[in-house]
Amino acid sequence: MTGITSTPGQCRALLYSIQSENNNGVSVLLTARANNPLAVNGIKNPGRVVNVCFFTVILFATLLTWREIVVLEDSWVASQRNSIADVAHQLDGELQMATGQLFFYRSGMQSALENPLGWSVLQQAREAYQSKRAEDSWSVYLNNQRTLKVFGISDARVAATPLLSRDTPKQDDELYAALEGGYLLRLASAYNSAPYQFYYVSRAGYYLTSDTDASADDTVAAFSALIAKPWFVNQTGRRNPARGIRWSMVNGEASNQDGRQIVASLPLDFERYWYGVLSMIFTPAQMRELLERAIQGEKASDFRLYDSSLTPIAFMNESRSADGFSPVEKAQLSRAFEEDTRGGLRFDTRYVSWQKLRCFDGVVLRVNYLSEGVRSDFGEMSIALGLLWLLFTSLLLLSWAVIRRMVHNMSALQASLQWQAWYDGLTALYNRNSLFDAAAKVAAACEARGEPLAVIQLDLDHFKRINDTYGHQAGDKVLSQTAAMMAEKIREGDLIGRVGGEEFCIILPDTSLEEACAVAERIRGRIYRREILLSCGQSVRISASLGISASDENDSYDIEHLQSVADKRLYLAKQQGRNRVCCRDGIGESC
Ligand code: GH3
Ligand code: MG
Ligand code: MG
Repeated sequence: MTGITSTPGQCRALLYSIQSENNNGVSVLLTARANNPLAVNGIKNPGRVVNVCFFTVILFATLLTWREIVVLEDSWVASQRNSIADVAHQLDGELQMATGQLFFYRSGMQSALENPLGWSVLQQAREAYQSKRAEDSWSVYLNNQRTLKVFGISDARVAATPLLSRDTPKQDDELYAALEGGYLLRLASAYNSAPYQFYYVSRAGYYLTSDTDASADDTVAAFSALIAKPWFVNQTGRRNPARGIRWSMVNGEASNQDGRQIVASLPLDFERYWYGVLSMIFTPAQMRELLERAIQGEKASDFRLYDSSLTPIAFMNESRSADGFSPVEKAQLSRAFEEDTRGGLRFDTRYVSWQKLRCFDGVVLRVNYLSEGVRSDFGEMSIALGLLWLLFTSLLLLSWAVIRRMVHNMSALQASLQWQAWYDGLTALYNRNSLFDAAAKVAAACEARGEPLAVIQLDLDHFKRINDTYGHQAGDKVLSQTAAMMAEKIREGDLIGRVGGEEFCIILPDTSLEEACAVAERIRGRIYRREILLSCGQSVRISASLGISASDENDSYDIEHLQSVADKRLYLAKQQGRNRVCCRDGIGESC
């Protein structure tokens, strides 16, 4: 009985409510009781405790797994950033190597300005220049296949164009330097199988280019186009005070496959005079080659090169040549480029890491797709972790179901034991011990309140005959149905129990002897009037004798005393012929 907290009153109320609906209600009672939460070993609701424990374990396991996956994802992101930083570093190196040529040509031309060779061939060229310079368009070259042709415009056009001037400190020397520069360019392009295109555009109104195939049909138009390019106009002392390399992106001539050029340009200064601009032109294909060299074999990855205003320059993955960013994503990226030199952004199923270049006004960007992330080591580890979590959670749920079942069964068993300890299995009424336990408490309460307390002792008449005539099972049926009839006739708060084979005792709090007699009479009448159906077509009618005692007779609340008085009067009722109620002592007295 230890640890069981429900009160006898609660149990009884439940028992009767079920019994009145089902005469064979014992099994129903047990089930109903088991479903009711019981305290097991001091735990009020063990089922709920089990639920909470399992839920907590699952919650923590889930949180832990989630956290691990987040850490893995962070590591993957960090690895992506490191890889893009490496690529950017490599690409910077490649660009630095390429643009190093510009510095080489500039210093070559500067030293030519300082110490002109003065060869007779150069002087002939100077003379040719002097004789042609007034012409609308002209060209000067040394007929030796070793230098580049110089194309020029007239004095008048130079004078009419801002930024241009022939009134220079070293006019002849600049022409020599240009021819010498052309010599170097020609040598370099003979050595290099895929040369970059170079230009020298002089403010003195002429230019030369390493692209010997470039047609100069219309020198005036070609020159005008060159000096309008941003890479030329942005080399004034004010716009490029550092006199270093400037990068610009231009929509080039139709000869270029996709019409765009990425131009690195360097001003040629000598003794604080700006003579002209050396420029080096990269095609997008050449930029892609540099990028390919920088990524060192990771060809399958989606590396891209953009300029700082997010104009695409080169994509490694040709199948994804469209950049695939929505305007909103582009705006986010532009904002990020302004704020930092490197970083990463997540767009739905893509992760974009990027790093700005030092040598070029642009950014290397890598797009990682979810599928790549899943295939990576981190992805595989995350999947393994997720599967482990799934396995763990499944096992936990399985054990939860088993333990819940066990707790349920234990509760049912405990309810059954409790019930058996308190109740009579046949009639579902209190048994003798629990009735007198409960009755003692009710008696004490009545005494404390000064209310009367009555006891009815009841015995079925000639019950042995029923067993003998119809069998023991029929006798049991009569007993359980009589118990139900009696229970219907008492109030809430009254107690009823089976105290012997076919003997019952009813405790009536706040009831005088007179009132108890009336109750007893009602019970007797009900039992006597009611035919009990034993089997199909067979019924029996029984009677009962009842003895009453009450505390208002001699002010005693002792249950044992009251019950023995009631028992004596029951005996008297039997003696007087049965099927009657006896409230007083003495044979012959009226009940
Ligand atoms: P009286 O009117 O004098 O009380 O006669 P009686 O036959 O009822 O009295 P007695 O005490 O001699 O018989 C009681 C019988 O009740 C004896 C026993 O067979 C029967 N009995 C006791 N417990 C049970 C039970 O649980 N089931 C059944 N079917 N019979 C029971
Ligand atoms: Mg009897
Ligand atoms: Mg008896």
